[in-house]
Amino acid sequence: MNALLARLNLRDTNPGACTGPDGWLDDPDGTALVSDNPATGEPIARVVQATAATYDRVVRTAGEAFETWRQVPAPKRGALVHDFGKALREVKEPLGELVTLEMGKIKAEGMGEVQEMIDICDFATGLSRQLYGVTTQSERPGHRMYEQWLPLGVVGIITAFNFPTAVWSWNAAIAAVCGDTMVWKPASAAPLTALAVQHIANRVSADHGVRGVFTLVIGSGSDIGERILGDPRLPLVSFTGSVRMGRRAAEAVARRLGRTILELGGNNAIIVTEDADLDLAVRAIVFGAIGTAGQRCTSTRRIIMQRSIASALIRRLVQAYQQVTIGNPLDDGILMGPLVNAAAVDGMMAALETIKTEGGEVLIGGRRLPEKGRCFAAPTLVRMPRQTPIVLEETFAPILYLLEYATLDEAIAMHNAVPQGLSSAIFTRDLLAAERFLSATGSDCGIANVNVGTSGAEIGLGFGGEKQTGGGREAGSDAWKSYMRRQSNVINWSRDLPLAQGITFGS
Ligand code: NAD
Repeated sequence: MNALLARLNLRDTNPGACTGPDGWLDDPDGTALVSDNPATGEPIARVVQATAATYDRVVRTAGEAFETWRQVPAPKRGALVHDFGKALREVKEPLGELVTLEMGKIKAEGMGEVQEMIDICDFATGLSRQLYGVTTQSERPGHRMYEQWLPLGVVGIITAFNFPTAVWSWNAAIAAVCGDTMVWKPASAAPLTALAVQHIANRVSADHGVRGVFTLVIGSGSDIGERILGDPRLPLVSFTGSVRMGRRAAEAVARRLGRTILELGGNNAIIVTEDADLDLAVRAIVFGAIGTAGQRCTSTRRIIMQRSIASALIRRLVQAYQQVTIGNPLDDGILMGPLVNAAAVDGMMAALETIKTEGGEVLIGGRRLPEKGRCFAAPTLVRMPRQTPIVLEETFAPILYLLEYATLDEAIAMHNAVPQGLSSAIFTRDLLAAERFLSATGSDCGIANVNVGTSGAEIGLGFGGEKQTGGGREAGSDAWKSYMRRQSNVINWSRDLPLAQGITFGS
C-alpha cells in the first residue's frame, strides 16, 4: 500500500486526514470513513469526512476561485487541463491499481479508467479553443445577433463508486475549460482514489498559479450529498448514481430551480439476430456482462436472441462463463474481481431468489464464492421465460438474463419495455435490421450500437441515457453546453431604433 502511494507521489502526505481544496483542511470534528479492499476485506485507509463547516469553507473557496477563473482565457484554462492529462499519463499504472484496490475492478479496467481521464483531458484541451456560439441574421437593419457561452459558476459533482475517477473527470475537465470551478463528492466506497486524484489536480493547479478550481469534499450522501443538492451557490449539480437517488437529486435541485445532469441506472440489452456473427457477439456479451463484475451502468443485463439460434448462443455463453477466471483483481489473468462490498453480494443473492420465484432457470453461477472472499459471487446466466418484474430492475451484479424472440418487432418491443434507457446494441449482419434498430421506432436508449457491445464507450460522443436514466449527457460532442450559460446578444450599430416584428411604438 505504501509503495503504491509512493508511486503516486503521495508519500509525504497523510492520505487519511484531509479534505478540501488546495492546501488540505484539518477537520478535527470530522468522523472517520474506513475504505476497504473488497478483494481481501482489509481496510486500506481511514479518511476524515467533512463537517458542515468544512463543506461551507470549501464551497466558499470554489466560489472565490470562480471570480478569477472565469476571466482566464479559455485556451489558458485548457493548458491547465492539458497538464493535468500529462500528470495522469505519468501515474496511469499506480492510479489504475489504486482504483482496482479500492473498488475491485480488474487491473486492465482500472488502467482503462485512467486512460479515459487522459482522453477527456485531451478532448477538453482542444475544446477550450472551440466553445463556439452561432451568429445569425437580424431582421432589423444595422443590427448584429449572436449567441455566446459564458462560465456558469461552481458545479457540484456527485459520483458513483463504480467509476471512482473517470466520471468525475468527464465533468471536471469540461467544466474547467468552460470556466467553472467545482466541488466533488465521491462515493463513500472509493474516497482514497478521490484523494489521490485531488492531490494530482492540486499539484498541477499550483504549477499554474491557480487554487480552488478543483475541490473535494468527502462525506456521506445523506450529509454532504444533501448539502450539495440544496446549496443555491451551486447552479449545476452533476449527479451519477442509482435511479432512486437520482430522483431525490432531481427533486431537491429543481426545488431551488438549479440545473442537473443526471447519469442514472441502466438495464442494457443486446439483440442477437439469427445471422449475427456469434463469435463477435459472445465476446461482446461476456465483456459487457462480466466487466467490473456486472457493476457498470452500461453492463449488459439482457440478451434478446432470435429463437433459431438460442440454443447455440446459450451453449457458447455457458462455455465462455466456465472459463472466466475469478480472483484478486490485481493479479494477472483474472477476468472478474469481487463486487464492491458484501451487501452487493447479498443483493445479488436476494435477486436470484426472486428470479427463481418468477420462473427463471439458473444455467451457471448463481452462488456466493466464500472460498475467494465475502465480496465474491459467480457470474450468472439465467434463462427467463419472459421479462418478469425482476428483469425490469437494475440488479447491480453479474446476472445476465437470456430471453428469446421470434420477430424483430417483438425483440425491439421487449428491448424498450424497461424503465431505463442507457445503452443498447444489436448484433446482426442484416443491414435492414441494423437500420431499424437505429431508427425512430428502434432502440429508445441514449446509446445504440451495431456489432459493438453495450459497455466501453469512448469519450468522443455525448454519454448518457433516456427515460429513468435521467436524460443527462456528459463527455464529448456538445455536452459542454450544460456547463455554461447561453447568452443571446443583439448589437445595434445604426442610428435608429427599429423594433422587432415591425412594431411601431409612439412616433
Ligand atoms: P448511489 O445512488 O448509491 O450513490 C451515488 C452517489 O450519490 C454517491 O456519491 C452517494 O454517496 C450519493 N448519495 C447517496 N444519497 C444521497 C443523497 N441523499 N443526496 C445526495 N447524494 C447522495 O449509486 P452507487 O451505488 O454509488 O452507484 C451505482 C449506480 O450508479 C448504478 O445504478 C449505476 O447504473 C449508476 N451509474 C450510472 C452512470 C451513468 O453514467 N449513467 C455511471 C456510473 C454509475
